[in-house]
Amino acid sequence: MDAQGGGAVRGTCEAKERRFSELGDEVHALFEPQGEGGEPRFCQVCHSERDVREVDGIRKCALCRSLEKLGEEASRAEWLVLEEVEPPSEVKPLGYEDVLSAFGLRVGLVRKLSQFKPSGGNFVRALRLRDADFLGEGVNPGWAYGFDFQARAVPTHDGHIKDFSEIAEEGRGIKRLGVLRMDVDNLGRLFREGLGARASMSRLSTMSRSLSIFFKGYISSICEDFPGAYLTYSGGDDLFLVCPWDRAPELGLRIREEFGRFVCDNPNVTISAGIAMVPGKYPLYRAARLAGEALEEAKDVRRERDGAVVEKDAISFLGQAMGWEVFGEMREVKLNIMGLLDIGVPRGLLTRLWEIYELYRRAEMTAVEDLLSGEMAFREYVKAIHYSKWQWRLVYTLIRVGKSEHKDSLRKLQEVLLREGMVRLLGPAVRWAEFETREAR
Ligand SMILES: [Zn+2]
Repeated sequence: MDAQGGGAVRGTCEAKERRFSELGDEVHALFEPQGEGGEPRFCQVCHSERDVREVDGIRKCALCRSLEKLGEEASRAEWLVLEEVEPPSEVKPLGYEDVLSAFGLRVGLVRKLSQFKPSGGNFVRALRLRDADFLGEGVNPGWAYGFDFQARAVPTHDGHIKDFSEIAEEGRGIKRLGVLRMDVDNLGRLFREGLGARASMSRLSTMSRSLSIFFKGYISSICEDFPGAYLTYSGGDDLFLVCPWDRAPELGLRIREEFGRFVCDNPNVTISAGIAMVPGKYPLYRAARLAGEALEEAKDVRRERDGAVVEKDAISFLGQAMGWEVFGEMREVKLNIMGLLDIGVPRGLLTRLWEIYELYRRAEMTAVEDLLSGEMAFREYVKAIHYSKWQWRLVYTLIRVGKSEHKDSLRKLQEVLLREGMVRLLGPAVRWAEFETREAR
């Protein structure tokens, strides 16, 4: 570096030092431990030092403890009561109640309305959270009543919300969390073009309200059929939930079916899903990003259907994105394999099937090369893939594996796999079955 350049760098350093020196002793105070000092007494969740106490072996500050309590209360509440109060002249924010009181709001999350004791505020509003019947528990004069569905599904154990590690343990086979994100395809286009010339403010708002009823109200009730499902967010046109991994694809499929019914099977209103699988202790925000990437992959799916190009309406699971119709077929292959294992066919079946899939993949790659080099016509290419070594290996394997009482079920799997295009789904189906039957660890 030349002398001038060095001088410039030195100049910057000096300027920086000066800037800090202007702060005087304050700059040192920034880096010193706050509070009582001595042993580190900061919150293990947010690193605050305000009123830290140990709960179940974890140090938590007052705000974190209170947010945890809020989560527990919200998961059980039947009513949300909002009371307008005079904001106190000075607020020491310790818990969420203190923060809200600074905004002139007192909040009650209660199972029965009688559990909320008003503090003499100006205005009380009571919203029923899981039922539209908001007058059922009697009426207090001067209160306003209403309902507001809350998207909610929270797995509990002995009255406590299960943590993600516990949820991961509930999965079949491999112990992982399934993180599922779904959203409506082409929503912008739907709003812009869906109503055509009949579009009006009231129609658009009806459309958006209907979607909201599905995502805020209906999703929660679907989740009830899937124990361990933790609905992190659902509203507008999308949702984000965490559950034992093996339930994620089933839950996604069910939501897709119910959504189809909700929009009267309109082929222009579809929904896509992305699933990520992570260990129970994995940071949630990163898991959310992975599931978001999977969802993006699903949105990139394009295929031809009845001569037209169809985009999206897809799912990405186990790193493979495919249309829901293909996913249904892949699931059928997997269910057939699982059925065989359930009736006692040795787990070695999975290895045999994987070898068949590899044979198919190799045949496909060779054929693609021949096709690209012009040595093979397209019709022959299709034949070369479909009628190659893997076929007789499949038949041969499925005859030899298992006992005589398994023959019918084995023949059924064979029939499914010999249907055109099905063998390419064998790989992902075997992986799925392998995860689901893996020894717990
Ligand atoms: Zn904290």
